[in-house]
Amino acid sequence: MREVDVIIIGAGAAGLMCAIEAAKRGRSVLVLDHANKAGKKILMSGGGRCNFTNYTVEAENYLSENAHFCKSALSRFTQWDFLAMVQAYEIPHHEREHGQLFCNETARDILNMLLNECHKLSVNIQLKTEIKSITKEAEQRFNVQGGDDTFRCESLVIATGGLSIPKMGATPFGYKIAQQFGLNVTATKAGLVPFTWQEADKQKFSALSGLALPASVSYQQQSFTENLLFTHRGLSGPVILQISSYWQEGGVVTVDLLPTLDLQQYLLDAQTEKVKLKLRNFLAQYLAKKLIPLFIADDLLELFVLDLSHKQIALITEKIQNWQFKPNGTEGYRTAEATVGGVDCNAISSKTLQANEVAGLYFVGEVLDVTGWLGGYNFQWAWSSGWCAGQYV
Ligand SMILES: Cc1cc2nc3c(=O)[nH]c(=O)nc-3n(C[C@H](O)[C@H](O)[C@H](O)COP(=O)(O)OP(=O)(O)OC[C@H]3O[C@@H](n4cnc5c(N)ncnc54)[C@H](O)[C@@H]3O)c2cc1C
Repeated sequence: MREVDVIIIGAGAAGLMCAIEAAKRGRSVLVLDHANKAGKKILMSGGGRCNFTNYTVEAENYLSENAHFCKSALSRFTQWDFLAMVQAYEIPHHEREHGQLFCNETARDILNMLLNECHKLSVNIQLKTEIKSITKEAEQRFNVQGGDDTFRCESLVIATGGLSIPKMGATPFGYKIAQQFGLNVTATKAGLVPFTWQEADKQKFSALSGLALPASVSYQQQSFTENLLFTHRGLSGPVILQISSYWQEGGVVTVDLLPTLDLQQYLLDAQTEKVKLKLRNFLAQYLAKKLIPLFIADDLLELFVLDLSHKQIALITEKIQNWQFKPNGTEGYRTAEATVGGVDCNAISSKTLQANEVAGLYFVGEVLDVTGWLGGYNFQWAWSSGWCAGQYV
């Protein structure tokens, strides 16, 4: 039986940050993970460059059944605090659109920083360890059976992440532990994930595979404007990943393929200016040629803009700026960057990340029902929640 102050299950972003903070307070910390390497998702994130945070981080950038829950942690360990760590390690980084911060060279810089801090503070990280059981034997005493060993700790932190990319070691472990201790888990689904075509759309849009264009995509009250990508499986690109987290099975999303202009007004102005172009050539000024006939019937495209009726102009605008797209589904956890839903935040203290009814049991990172937008928000949640729990475990 090995005894430590704190056991953290999951050597990912949130678990490592929590380990560092707990060790700074003089706690003995053991991190257990079933994977053969720590921080695999950090390494694969942001196309290998890790979008580690964002210049603007607000509660509005997160989905949760408890919309206020994330505020406390995000305000106590902010994007500026994480950036200060990155700067202290002189990790070369840069800003991309929407305030997203990326490593210049490799995501490994972020992981090395975390592992180096762990090493300096004598955090023990034990990999390739299957957790067989967790039991609570008394107030603030947990027994963890991992591999061939039994460990005992005062504080137990579950940092096992969500369900996305099972190949990288994602498991529902954290949800099972929550349920074992009587905590509710909200419904989970893949988030930040491409949509797949209905069979008929698959045929129709196959010629557009690889085409990217800016678009606005809306679902219910939520709307994003970013790039959209046609693929042979469906629709992808940042704008689709963003809206996918809000989308519900069977729902219809609205797509505006010309988000920066008012097509109806452009067509009316062209008539006033007596522009002598066929509709096909007029639209080709703004949209890829191969896309146009998939949205507008050929007989309309052959008409001169001057000859279009107001009703036809309204119809053309509707087709291009109000495309009602019904996904067949999503690509699921295989390619999702996040899991929507998770351990119910109402069962957790937003200050300490401790379960309200189970002293000594903490949940941090993506295992909780807090899902960030694309743009560095999921890592910021992992850093913030891990840091906060680290002050109390
Ligand atoms: C392809 C991809 C790219 C991404 N890019 C970005 C990005 O650029 N910016 C951003 O903000 N977010 C990004 N994300 C999301 C981000 O990676 C996660 O939100 C973040 O890693 C969550 O941190 P975490 O510590 O909660 O969980 P994780 O980082 O997933 O860590 C969980 C750890 O728990 C371990 N574990 C799981 N189950 C068990 C078990 N049963 N027993 C023992 N150990 C277990 C896992 O092996 C893993 O090491 C990306 C995600 C993916 C999939």
